[in-house]
Amino acid sequence: MRYNNIRVVTEQVNFRQAVMRGLGQDQGLFFPEKIPVLDDIEGLLKLDFVTRSQKILQPFMADILSPDELLGMLERAFDFELPLVPVAGHEKVYALELFHGPSLAFKDFGARFLGQCFEQFAGAQTQTILTATSGDTGAAVAHAFYGMKNIRAVILYPQGKVTPLQEKLFCTLGGNISTIAIDGDFDACQQLVKSAFSDTDIRGPLNLNSANSINIARLLAQVCYYFEAAAQLGYVAAKSAVYSVPSGNFGNATAGMIAHYMGLPMQCLIAATNANDTVPRFLAEGYWDPRSTVATLTNAMDVSLPNNFIRIQQMAQNQPDLFVQQMYARKISEAATEAAIVELNSCGYLADPHSALAYAALMQDRTNSGKPLSAAVFLCTAHPAKFIQTLTATLNKEITLPQELAAVVDKQLLSIKLANDYPAFKNHLLTRLR
Ligand SMILES: *Cc1c(COP(=O)(O)O)cnc(C)c1O
Repeated sequence: MRYNNIRVVTEQVNFRQAVMRGLGQDQGLFFPEKIPVLDDIEGLLKLDFVTRSQKILQPFMADILSPDELLGMLERAFDFELPLVPVAGHEKVYALELFHGPSLAFKDFGARFLGQCFEQFAGAQTQTILTATSGDTGAAVAHAFYGMKNIRAVILYPQGKVTPLQEKLFCTLGGNISTIAIDGDFDACQQLVKSAFSDTDIRGPLNLNSANSINIARLLAQVCYYFEAAAQLGYVAAKSAVYSVPSGNFGNATAGMIAHYMGLPMQCLIAATNANDTVPRFLAEGYWDPRSTVATLTNAMDVSLPNNFIRIQQMAQNQPDLFVQQMYARKISEAATEAAIVELNSCGYLADPHSALAYAALMQDRTNSGKPLSAAVFLCTAHPAKFIQTLTATLNKEITLPQELAAVVDKQLLSIKLANDYPAFKNHLLTRLR
């Protein structure tokens, strides 16, 4: 499979190169030349998750990895469960729980598969993985790469804009993981990372690579869990299923659209955003008009320049009809997110704010459509305990920490602080890492 740089059409690479480069020339994102279409979806849904995932991903990387190599990588990356849980009191409403990995967020899927790819592809030279995070990517990347030989990870995050518990999850590891708190928002962190990638003083000498959702390996790994949701629903129910995806940088929604292009049937996919609604406004009005980022309860989605949206547009260009019918974007208010947390709790389901926001978008769609009820799945992207402060405040009840979190609460933060200033950041990289 060839991968094209969406911005620089002359840059064409294979899977290995796309993974190792992360970002292409002129900050262009790589995207498969052609999305493979799978046959016998019904048969595919009968396989177990890892076996099926190998069959889904093989066509994207068949020239680079043998089926057995890929299977081994997926066994190591996808070593946790992903249950589809029915919500009591609602007909055919399901929570797809993607947060049972080591960092308690869905980003473990992408980060762990990417880690496997780096192990497989990296030579003897040390690679520097440079990543901006609005919270959960940091933890997933830190845990996926911690202790790997010839890899060091540098993780930037907006100071004060991730929860204290989230920070504890990824800023206390040390070793080959370093974390930098930037005095700015997530978009500022993302911009610093992009600037480093286009800086020849840094990129080559430090062997820079990215673990953000701009890396195509992460995105492709995420395609697999949409098929798993369908498998657990059953083929017939899956044909008319609605998926609601809490969206920030739009990697998750892009993966859902790729799954659909590959042949996974669905009724539609709802990309649900918070007040950072660049995409809903774009789809409604036709103007790409990002505003400054607003802080919300769903901080992992506080993104006003969603990097991955251009990949969805790329697919839309190829098949405009499919795109128009299958994807909606919906903005959910803070009040509606809180109301969803409360409503789900009254059904006996404790959801983190991001998952609750997706639920709110799903239920709006349900009440407005007037169609017969079909299966409705909201993607649960983080474990509720990661947002214990919000949940305790909203629900007015005590919530106990799971083992994974209780273990990090008292550890010391190892992050350093930097201004939102590229020269200062560059200087730090060159003096500390070379
Ligand atoms: C990253 C994240 C999102 C947003 O996912 P995108 O792929 O960036 O749209 C949603 N919820 C949680 C908990 C996240 O960590």
